[in-house]
Amino acid sequence: MASFKDLKVNPKVCELLKKSGIISPTPVQEKVIPAARTGKDLIVRAKTGTGKTLAFLIPTIERLKKIPVTQALIIAPTRELAMQISKVAAEPAKISEVDSILISGGKDIFEEKNKLRRTPQLIIGTPGRLLDHVKRGTIQLKNVNKIILDEADELLKLGFIEDVENLIRETAGDKQLILCSATMPDRIKQLAAEFMSRPQEIFIEPKTVTLKNIEQIVLKTKQDKKFSRLVELLEKENPYLAIIFCGKKEIVSRLTLELAKKNFSVDELHGDLTQQQRNFVMKKFRDAKIQILVATDIAARGLDIEGITHVISYDIPRDVETYIHRIGRTGRAGKTGIAITLVTPEETEKLRRIESGIKKQISVRRPETKHPRRKQFKITGKNSVNKNISEKNVGNKKLTGKQIRAKKSAARNFSGKKK
Ligand code: ADP
Ligand code: MG
Repeated sequence: MASFKDLKVNPKVCELLKKSGIISPTPVQEKVIPAARTGKDLIVRAKTGTGKTLAFLIPTIERLKKIPVTQALIIAPTRELAMQISKVAAEPAKISEVDSILISGGKDIFEEKNKLRRTPQLIIGTPGRLLDHVKRGTIQLKNVNKIILDEADELLKLGFIEDVENLIRETAGDKQLILCSATMPDRIKQLAAEFMSRPQEIFIEPKTVTLKNIEQIVLKTKQDKKFSRLVELLEKENPYLAIIFCGKKEIVSRLTLELAKKNFSVDELHGDLTQQQRNFVMKKFRDAKIQILVATDIAARGLDIEGITHVISYDIPRDVETYIHRIGRTGRAGKTGIAITLVTPEETEKLRRIESGIKKQISVRRPETKHPRRKQFKITGKNSVNKNISEKNVGNKKLTGKQIRAKKSAARNFSGKKK
């Protein structure tokens, strides 16, 4: 197996990665780092949590020239993901002495405009806000010759594709395009081929669709029993951190409230919140200050949160790609995880379609064996100090210091790496 050094990654970057427990490259990194350096267009498909971010960031950042010209653009479908990528990029960019800026909306545009005066070599953002700046003339893309679409198949769907195409049109004639995702439906690949020039395809492990380290389970339930099934499940499983996906914002809000009433440590994430609220919730979840995040599919793609042991689909995902990305929020970087999908009799057909998409039958049962370390994670709101949760303090349930420390140390044990 090659090392980062063998891949001729800057020794300072190797040192930086080592500090966060990243010692040897994953298969996708081993393939993409040298391929990206050739300047060829790439279509990269590798499973969730296998290190695609560094695979595209390392060769992109190291090739940036230290001149005040924007040369690279990374586009992601959600603000949360753009923010996460920009955090990963920050240190390697510093090492290469280049500037990277996050342009992701939800913030004051004038603040971003001021930052853009620095003319960053790398811009990371979401399509709508990026295009907004292009139209205002605050971003110049004409010298951008490296473009990365993370979660490319999502960005090439209706709703995003027009903005993405408009952005690409603004960039240099002679450019490199890198498309990354864990899923790449054929129709999207064909679409992508139209604006790529003879792309090289890098597909890692094409045989099995989902990760082996994620245990997949279906829980059959009647529509009117859904909530009690979920509560039962949460009490039995006692996740360290869990994401519960719902199909609609309204369901997210209602479910969050109902779970809070039952004293679970929970908060919500969806597009109706202000960006400030979204950031606040994400921070609490990343810091394990809440145990359960109830979310729409804005949390389905790309988010890398340490300690998620369980992904629960309260509503069945609308397609197989969404299923793959949702469950991929657990079982990251080789860790194990459990993905549970609640299925009502009316949703049987949808389940069949998902199963045929992942070429696997998902076992229908209650999880029998408990997660080996789960006992340590006993931090649920149930039976804990603060019983009087009201609508106002949803998600703000206080844990005792001891509980927080227990959670943090459990997180460290869980991850096996220090952060
Ligand atoms: P993907 O984009 O493929 O879903 P990410 O790039 O978000 O995956 O990486 C998933 C996790 O794996 C991150 O926490 C990241 O720090 C970690 N990681 C990345 N590369 C390596 C590596 N070479 N060795 C160990 N962990 C890694
Ligand atoms: Mg990713």
